[in-house]
Amino acid sequence: MPMNLFCRLLGHTWVPLADNPKTTWNVDKSGLLLVGTPAGTVKLWEECARCKQRREVAPRRVYPTAAPVPEEEAAESEAQAG
Ligand SMILES: [Zn+2]
Repeated sequence: MPMNLFCRLLGHTWVPLADNPKTTWNVDKSGLLLVGTPAGTVKLWEECARCKQRREVAPRRVYPTAAPVPEEEAAESEAQAG
C-alpha cells in the first residue's frame, strides 16, 4: 500500500491512541467477594489519521524515577525468522 500523498508531503499526522485493559470482575468461591483481574497493561500507540499507519510509543513514566533515564535505549529486539 503506497504512502498517502499528504503523508509524503507533510508527514504523518499521529493521533495518540491507548488501549485500556478491561478488568474482569468475578465473584470468588464464597460468592460474596468481588475479585478484579486486570487483563493487562495499558498499551499506547500512535496512528496516522490519514494512512492508518501505526507506530508504538513508549509509555510515559508517571512517577519520577531516582535514576536518570537514558534518552536512547538501545533496545533492539532480535527478530528470529522461522
Ligand atoms: Zn500517514
